Amino acid sequence: MTKKIKYSIIGALSVIFVTIICIFAFSSCGTNSVIKLASQNATNYNMSLVYNDDTKSLYGNSDIDYINRSQDNLEQVLFHLYPNAFREDAKYKPVSSILHTQAYINGESYGDITIKSVKVNNKEVSHSIGGQDNDILIVPLSNQLYPNSRVNIQIEYDITIPNVKHRFGYTDNAVNLGNFYPIACVYENNAFDTSPYSYNGDPFYSDISNYNVTFTCDSDFVVASSGNLKSKDTKDGKTTYNYSALAIRDFAMSLSKKFNLLETKCDGISIKYYYHSDEQPQESLETAYKAVETFNDLFGKYPYSTLSVVETSFVHGGMEFPNIVFISDDLTSYEEYTNVIVHEIAHQWWYGVVGDNQNKDGYIDEGLAEYSCILFYENNPEYEITRTSIIGNDLQSYLLFTEVYGDLFENFDTSMDRLLTEYTTEPEYTYMAYVKSVLMFDNLRQLIGDKDFKQGIKNFYNDNQMQFATKDTLIIAFEQASNMPLKSFFDSWIDGKIVIASN
Ligand SMILES: [Zn+2]
Repeated sequence: MTKKIKYSIIGALSVIFVTIICIFAFSSCGTNSVIKLASQNATNYNMSLVYNDDTKSLYGNSDIDYINRSQDNLEQVLFHLYPNAFREDAKYKPVSSILHTQAYINGESYGDITIKSVKVNNKEVSHSIGGQDNDILIVPLSNQLYPNSRVNIQIEYDITIPNVKHRFGYTDNAVNLGNFYPIACVYENNAFDTSPYSYNGDPFYSDISNYNVTFTCDSDFVVASSGNLKSKDTKDGKTTYNYSALAIRDFAMSLSKKFNLLETKCDGISIKYYYHSDEQPQESLETAYKAVETFNDLFGKYPYSTLSVVETSFVHGGMEFPNIVFISDDLTSYEEYTNVIVHEIAHQWWYGVVGDNQNKDGYIDEGLAEYSCILFYENNPEYEITRTSIIGNDLQSYLLFTEVYGDLFENFDTSMDRLLTEYTTEPEYTYMAYVKSVLMFDNLRQLIGDKDFKQGIKNFYNDNQMQFATKDTLIIAFEQASNMPLKSFFDSWIDGKIVIASN
């Protein structure tokens, strides 16, 4: 995600504003061998979705070929039901109180997902809804599922979409379908990860999977989506699209009757730009092109064949999904808009191809996405934004933040690997995952030098593709590049022991 550049530190301190200039604003998936390999050992989602614009609802049927990738025998499979965070009595709200009015422009609005039936191997089973916030679907299996074995699970559901400028929500400009369907929880350490929604960060964690999706809506909509469009059939005013994608960790869409479309190709990757109010669309497409070109060169090739950039309604600056990124249509400056395009595209490498547990390791993908912006500007000097200016602004704003928060909170915590729900406020998360993480990577670059730093990023990308990266794999990548022990360096930054001061 990208945070917008203006933030009140907390509601009670609304007179103190920190403005950070340009900081965090801040397929055929085909024949690629990395994709091929990852797709063979992945869950398959066959989803059939019908959107009703009159009721702002979605009917869905998911036919899931689930694979047990763990070493344990499973007796049940758990799925996240993220739309339930948008219901009236949700415990973990999707929007913080600071941004509530900006997000719900027409007042309160609610959404949810209702599970109508669940079948396992074609037999109806008695499912239940659990989790910390009625946000987990529990599917019992009649027989134990052994490691590397598969089971067929069919889920039928109705989704109500709320009127909110969010990943999942509609406005007059667009309908955003992010994190909207039942998606399997990651199984690790002998349990499913059932972390709830959080308005801090991007509370999502999901395995690489394959998708085959049919989506039906009124024909006057323009649809942007993850994956590759395989077919499009129009009948009686309705259009059915069929998309397929191999080895991606989530599937998202955005649709609008207002979208215009520009397209280009970079290194064989089809880049699409959907926009409705951007007055410099050609420049925005050019930025997307340069971002893909620069990151392909610096990190390693983007393995998919499509990438869509979508100007849509979103209360934060932007949001990343595999093969598709949302860019907010109400950013205050074009410079900021450009920065968000670059940041979100960088997430295709950090979050998309190299995954991480965003519920606790957001500093990895957000920090690297932010640092990728610095590398982008260094490689594209025509944007006239320098590393020195970004780091200078980051440092200044971080120091101001720690001063204010240090005074406010007795046990002010600057660790970067807490659970999202453990951050006191949204700005606290933003400063730790974005700003402090960028300062950490820049400090690392100073320590090991430009060449080893860039090699470390390449190593990290190459060694963790289609996996979940962790602090340990991050350390290994840079240690191998620099031949220096770096554990204590990373530990002191991530644990919060290091004290950052201005020179
Ligand atoms: Zn981000």
